[in-house]
Amino acid sequence: HGKLIIFSAPSGAGKTTLVRHLLEIPALNLAFSVSATSREKRSYVVEGKDYFFLTTDEFSKKIKNVEFVEWEEVYQNQYYGTLKSEVDSLLKSGKNVIFDIDVEGGLNLKKIYGSKALAIFVKPPSIKHLEQRLNTRSSEDEESLKMRLEKAVAELEYAPQFDKVLLNDRLERAKKDAEVFVSDFLGINLE
Ligand code: 5GP
Repeated sequence: HGKLIIFSAPSGAGKTTLVRHLLEIPALNLAFSVSATSREKRSYVVEGKDYFFLTTDEFSKKIKNVEFVEWEEVYQNQYYGTLKSEVDSLLKSGKNVIFDIDVEGGLNLKKIYGSKALAIFVKPPSIKHLEQRLNTRSSEDEESLKMRLEKAVAELEYAPQFDKVLLNDRLERAKKDAEVFVSDFLGINLE
């Protein structure tokens, strides 16, 4: 009977920080849905975000075997997907499942799970801001940075299709807003 909490945003909008914050609140009973990806492992862990790293070949096989709830070529030749087995086992264990996925993937999950899911769009204060964040993260080379920024501009258009839009201008406020959205949806009193 668990529910699904979907966090989507352009790369660099700060959704990972918010997801991590929520995972630290035991009362919310959340577990993180670990995605599969064919992208290269970063040489150092910036966000501490976990993936199942697959080769493109392994990823294609799983697509063929219909093992994904949703999958996407998020960037050229970089596939990301949510595994059915992952979501099912977390729900079975009695947890609410939280997702950190891109904007289209988030909307696809929302379509599939309907009222069992809350889809939250994390909005950066500005594109300039995003660029700075991606720069200081310094996990991207110039090409990747450009690719991510271009995608981000397009993704901002999708915000109105989400259940909630969370403006991430000041982190402490954004964390509080995230707590309120999620606890309200789950019917949990955090006081
Ligand atoms: P990164 O390479 O920065 O970890 O992730 C790139 C983008 O892919 C982020 O927006 C991230 O949220 C998204 N992403 C991660 N896992 C999935 C997934 O399973 N499905 C989809 N559609 N996007 C994902």
